Amino acid sequence: MDYIRQVAEKLIKANFAVVLTGAGISTGSGIPDFRGPKGIWKVLDPNLFHISHFYEDPLDTWKLFKNEMYEKIKNAIPNRAHYSLARLEELGIIKAIITQNIDNLHQKAGSKKVIELHGNMKLAICTQCGRKFDIEEAFKEVDENKIPLCPYCGGILKPDVIFFGEALPQNELKEAFDLASQSDLFLVLGSSLTVSPANQLPIVAKSNGADLIIINMEETELDNYADIKIEGKVEEIFPKICKKIEEMIASQSNC
Ligand code: NAD
Repeated sequence: MDYIRQVAEKLIKANFAVVLTGAGISTGSGIPDFRGPKGIWKVLDPNLFHISHFYEDPLDTWKLFKNEMYEKIKNAIPNRAHYSLARLEELGIIKAIITQNIDNLHQKAGSKKVIELHGNMKLAICTQCGRKFDIEEAFKEVDENKIPLCPYCGGILKPDVIFFGEALPQNELKEAFDLASQSDLFLVLGSSLTVSPANQLPIVAKSNGADLIIINMEETELDNYADIKIEGKVEEIFPKICKKIEEMIASQSNC
């Protein structure tokens, strides 16, 4: 079956297409996912990224975050899947991206409407007053073996990413659920769909009548709900879909 053409046609027909991305969209940019065969949890203990560990030992968590995540991600560049999404937004075909990623690659690729459910690794947040700061400023303190503190209220700073055991940002979460229920096509790229509440979004979309398309290298928790499931590398498959859309639009405007 020509899934590339089918997905391209569905995207062109959609009035309100929304995309959910997970760590799998960024493995092609050299950033390991969490649960895939080469995932981060194969080498790091996830308990160290629980919010309780942060409050027990903020400096240790800061050092781990800096060395094991930030330093490995900061120079990553978007791959063709990120760029294809930005292009489809520019064409008016995709209305929004909801991402579980913290790597900032959608924005680097030029996407404008990006809802970040798990924060962004560029920022630090004060656990007391909620003010946000450039994370590089906090790292200066960490490098001197000091817990970074808020210059305004003295509260402990935390990387502005969601740790295990923490609630998701309420505004972003609400917007994500609103977008999912408004969508008539919901596309999931590179997510195992094991992490709640993000894995509820495709179900909300589907129960409001949207088509659900999943592109992932492995099985996901919601494959049974999908109208189309394509198994493979998103950075190879999605640019083909984008190219097909451009061709179809060009041939329509030639008529
Ligand atoms: P996940 O690790 O649970 O799942 C990723 C999925 O992507 C897996 O099913 C894997 O098979 C698939 N995959 C890997 N490479 C792929 C590729 N090239 N093409 C297609 N599919 C591919 O990640 P998740 O579902 O996003 O959720 C878990 C958490 O991971 C989130 O909380 C997120 O914050 C965090 N995370 C983010 C980053 C990042 O910012 N890049 C990296 C690692 C983890």
